This record gives sequence, structure tokens and C-alpha cells, in this order.
Amino acid sequence: MTSLLTLTIRYEQDVVLVRQRARQIAELLGFEAQDQTRIATAVSEAARDAFLSAAEGRVVFEVAPTSPPVLLIRLHSHAVAWVNPNAELLSPSSSDQGAGINGSRRLMDQFQIESSAQGTTVVMGKQFAAQAPAWTEDRRRQIIHELAQRSPQSPFEAVQQQNQELLQALEELRKREEELTYLNRELEDTNRGVVALYAELDEKADSLRRANELKTRFLSNMSHEFRTPLNSILSLSRLLLDRCDGDLTGEQEKQVTFIRKAAEGLSDLVNDLLDLAKVEAGKTQVHPAQFEVSELFATLRGMLRPLLTHNSVNLVFEEPNDIPTLVTDEGKVAQILRNFVANALKYTEQGEVRVSARRQGDMVVLAVADTGIGIDPANQERIFEDFVQIDSSLQRRVKGTGLGLPLSRKLAELLGGSVSVSSEVGVGSTFSAYIPIVYPGASIVPAPVAPPIWQLDTHKLPILVIEDNEETLFTYEKYLEGTSYQVIPARTLEQAQQVLATLKPKAILLDILLAGQSSWMFLSDLSQQADTQTIPVIVITVVDNEKQAIARGAAAFLIKPVDRLLLLNRLNTLVRRDQRDVILLIDDDPVARYLLKQYLSGLPFSVLEAGDGAEGVRLAQVERPHVIILDLVLPDCSGVEVLNQLKSHFITSSIPVIINTSQPAAADAVPNLASQVITVLSKENRSKEVAIDNLHHALRQAGIHWEAKGTINE
Ligand code: ADP
Repeated sequence: MTSLLTLTIRYEQDVVLVRQRARQIAELLGFEAQDQTRIATAVSEAARDAFLSAAEGRVVFEVAPTSPPVLLIRLHSHAVAWVNPNAELLSPSSSDQGAGINGSRRLMDQFQIESSAQGTTVVMGKQFAAQAPAWTEDRRRQIIHELAQRSPQSPFEAVQQQNQELLQALEELRKREEELTYLNRELEDTNRGVVALYAELDEKADSLRRANELKTRFLSNMSHEFRTPLNSILSLSRLLLDRCDGDLTGEQEKQVTFIRKAAEGLSDLVNDLLDLAKVEAGKTQVHPAQFEVSELFATLRGMLRPLLTHNSVNLVFEEPNDIPTLVTDEGKVAQILRNFVANALKYTEQGEVRVSARRQGDMVVLAVADTGIGIDPANQERIFEDFVQIDSSLQRRVKGTGLGLPLSRKLAELLGGSVSVSSEVGVGSTFSAYIPIVYPGASIVPAPVAPPIWQLDTHKLPILVIEDNEETLFTYEKYLEGTSYQVIPARTLEQAQQVLATLKPKAILLDILLAGQSSWMFLSDLSQQADTQTIPVIVITVVDNEKQAIARGAAAFLIKPVDRLLLLNRLNTLVRRDQRDVILLIDDDPVARYLLKQYLSGLPFSVLEAGDGAEGVRLAQVERPHVIILDLVLPDCSGVEVLNQLKSHFITSSIPVIINTSQPAAADAVPNLASQVITVLSKENRSKEVAIDNLHHALRQAGIHWEAKGTINE
């Protein structure tokens, strides 16, 4: 340690001297003006305290040659208690004693109080600037020399100097304040900017959310709009291919098959889009039910067999081992696996596709492993995004929508699980679905459902309708009202069993997603048991699962909401209706209808009646009678208009029409009528026999033949 100067405090003016010297030393050591003031003030304040409390003291200025060097000022007094060791804790106003010391500690870098029997020393330190040159003996001598040159100032000069320093400090303070105000304003501006940005972000997020909602709504609306015409194309092309309306030439068959294929492709896309939109909109409901993985595999095996187009790929379902009964949505799990297997078969040219199940904690892991082309790591996450398809040699040959995997992922998440893939290019891929064994929140005990009340109408054909939704059930009842069918309702599978134990329906309409129950097993049972095997089952559901339905023995498949005409056509095709010919009478006069029925009684015909033109056209479309007997004067429109409507609709255009009128002359006046009808009968017959003869003759002309069984009843 190298001392520069030692001063003794005995009189009040010594405090002023200490201050002057402290400033000179600070200046000589190269401290900035502000630091010079700080040092001078700190030292003089401490010196004043020493003088006031102890009336004596000694100040030593020295430099510690550290790097950077430190100016140390030691202020020592023999009195023990001239400084409070807790001076730093005192607030300046708490007591006069220590107020100076307390102020000093804030101005310096170092500050210590050392007490001993010899007295108390306050050590204050101020560090040189970082770039200050190293402390040398030469420099010390030079400074001592310069200090000796500077004579102490008079008290007046000292006060003047102190005033100048005060002014400088005030100026500095003003500048600082200005800077602070400026900074504050800048901060305020920045804050305002940030707030505005946040508001903008919120707005953007809001419009994004709205756009997303709109997209979802658009997709689901459009998909619904597409579905109806597509379903019509699919069912009509099937009618054509089933030769329901006569034979097709080879060329026509080829064309209709193309139409059907294109419609099927579009239908796949629309269904995927709709499913995706529904899941995204949170509208997809989970219908948990109990089922075994082995049953699921068995169904999938049947359903996916048609996809095995070449023999070089083996589709293997491993027998599940030690997997408990699952309580989750079987339809959705099947949909996920179907997507995985369909993809695996598409992207595998040889080897095998292996489907397996294992348990992992409270999850079941359903894995589909293939030996196909594989997916490179960069694309393994992307394929789960909407519409992403990876370009490959096979991609151009196979058809797809790029929606299967995103949908699978969403469905798995809906069930509380997830999907993942591991894959190596050229080796193969394994897609896994992790599904909770019990769907969180599943309640598998369905609430008891009161059995619907019905009474068998022996004149109608019973159709068992298994549907848990009352409104839908009501819709079917409305659809079949006035037809030759009677709805026998069942809201649970148990109720359906009870109905089947008492009668044999002509057909069954089966909903798949009944509350808490899945009807797939029921469907398989129906097609396996001898007494129910021959009953045609039409599966009607919201999930497009036609393949699974057909694989389990359904005769037909319809997607909700069902079109009335489509349903009745399907029923008419499937239910043979005892092969009886159906005659439709369109006449507003009940007496005329009664007479005709009398003339027809005893013959093997079913008779349907319509009291006006609109009802007549409707019945003709849904029941497709073999012959129509039409009156020319009807309350709502003329018979000629009805005839035109019948002839212009493809379903009814070929049904033969017999006119039955009280004004045959009016019929003669209608242009082209004769060419559109079989014949015109007159209601004005003198005898019943003539009327019956004419009617029978007209029916035979219409192509209806029957075995005569004795005389006709009166
Ligand atoms: P796509 O209808 O095209 O099959 P997906 O969403 O099901 O749509 O699949 C997206 C893409 O992921 C496919 O187009 C294909 O490139 C790739 N991919 C899916 N499964 C496999 C697989 N097992 N092997 C190789 N590539 C696959």
C-alpha cells in the first residue's frame, strides 16, 4: 500500500481542508469531475462526523495497487463510538450522528467500518477507471510532488468551489431528469405500441378462428350437399347394374361402371371431408360399447379382403393375446385401422401387411406393419397433415385423398389416444394407434328404454325398424305411412330380439350406433342364424361403413339422412311382396273406387288407392304398381296432368295406365291420349258383367295375367 497524503483533523477548518485535498488527489489520479465531487463530498462528510463526535481524527489517502487500482481513504479516530457501526442502516434523518457517514457510503464503491480498542476507522474506496494505467512508484512520487505544489485554498475559495460544484451537480440533475422524462415518454410510446400490437394479434387470432369455423362449416355443409346427389348417382347406377329396369348392353355396362367408380371416388373424398370437418367442429360423438379386438379383426379381415389385388402381398391378422374387452367406439377404431391397412396394401408391392394388438398399460396398441416402400424421416410428420401425399413411383398409380391419416389421427385423439409411425425407406412402415382400453367417461350401462307400443296390421308387411332416436323412428313411420309396409319399432337390440321372437318381419332397418350398443355383432348374428338368415337387413347409419355392413351380411346400406324414395325403392326391391301384382286406383270418388275393388275382388291383386292426383303420383313413385287406373277429373288437377307427370318420371314412365272416366268423349278430344294409355274405360256401363269384362280385357292388354279361379264375387 502506498500512502499519498496524511491529514490531521483538529479544528473545524480542517474538515474544509480534507475536502480540498480529497478533490485534488481525485483530480490528479484522473477521476472524472463527477467522481471528484463524489470523493470530496464523501470524505468531507465523514471528516465532519469525526470532528463533531470525537473532536479529532486522522485521514490517510493511499492507493491499493490492484488491477484496476483503488483509491482508499482511511479516516481514524481514537474515540471508540464516533461512528455507529450500523450507520448504513440509518436513514439520513433518523439522527444527526452518522448522517454524514450514511451519505458517504452511497458515493463510494467500498465502505467499511473497523472498530478496535484503539478506536474506529472508516475505510472508503473508489475504483480507478478500468482503462487506468497500472499504479507505479513513479506515479506515486509524481502525485506527491504535485500535491506539494498546490497550496491549500482560502475558505472563501473553497466555498466558491463548492458552489460551482453544486451548480454543476444541479445542472447534471436537470439533464438526468430530462433524459428520464424522454426515456419515460419513449417507454410509454413503446408500451402503447406493444398494446396495439397485442390488440392486432388478438384480432388476427379472432379472424383466424372465424375463418377456421367458416371453413369447417363450409366443408360440412358442402359435403352434405354433395352427399345427396352422390348417393342418388350411386343408388341409381346400382339399380342399372342390377338390371332392375331391363338389361344393359356390354358398352352400357362399361359406361355405368365408370360412372359408379367415379362417384365412389368422389363419395370417399366427401365422406373423409365431412368426417374431418365434423371432428374439427367437435360435432363427432363417441359411442362407446363393449367389443373384442378379435371380433374387430375378423370383421376387418372380411372387409379388406377385396383390397388384396395382387397375390404377392399377404394380409395377416395376428390372433390377439391377452387383450381385455375394449369399451370404446368400435366404428372409429375400425375406421382408423381400415385406413392404416388400406394404405399399407396400397404402398406395398410384395411381402406382407401384419395387423397386431398388444397391451401397454391402460392402452391397447393396434399396429399395422408393412414391407412396402417406406417413408423418409422428413415426411413422417407431414403425412398427418390435410391433403399431403408423398410423391413416389406408386403414388401415381393408387388413388387417395390425402385425408385418411389426418382423419385417423383426429379420431384417435377423440378417443383419448394417439397415432404414430415408424418407417424406413425401402424396408417398410409401421403405423400404430394407441387407444385407451376404456374410453374416458364411457358409461356402458344404457338407460332402460321403454319399449314402443305397436299393434300388428295383418294387411301390411311388417318391417322391423331398430333405431334409438325417436325422431328418426317417427320419420320412418311417416315415410312408410300409406304404403303396404308397417313399421315395427325397436329402440334397443333387446327389444329387437323380443320382436323377432314373436314375428318374422319382411325386412329389418338397422341403425348401427344405438345408445351404448354397437349393432355389428347383432348384424352378424342375424345373418348366421337359420330363422333370421333370409330376412333382408338394410343398415342405415351416419358412418360410411358400407363395406363392413355388407361383410357382416347386410343386404343394403344407406347413409343418414335417408331419402324416402330411396328407402322405399330399396324395400320394394328386397321384399318380394308375395309376388302379387299391385293395381293403383286414382279417383276422388270413393264409390267409383269401391266398384272397381269389387270388380277386382277374388283376383290375386293388391289394390292401392289415391283420392287425388298428387297422392296418386306419389304412390306410383314409391310403390311402383303394375297398373294404374286413372280418373280424368280429379279435385287438384286433371287426369291428363297426372298422366303427363307419370310419363315424365323415369320410375313411373313405363307403368301401363288405364283411363276410367264418366266422359269417354272428353278423353277422345285429348290429343295423343290414346297413344299413352292402354285403353279408355267408361264408368257408364249398363251391366256389371260388361264392366267386369271390359276391365279384365284392359288388364290383360296391360300385360297382367292371372289364373281364372271360378266366378268373380259380386
Ligand atoms: P391417401 O389417401 O393418399 O392414402 P393418407 O392421408 O392416408 O392419404 O396418406 C398420406 C400419404 O402418406 C400417402 O399419400 C402416402 O404417400 C403416405 N403413406 C401412408 N401410408 C403409407 C404406407 N403404409 N407406406 C408408405 N407411404 C404411406
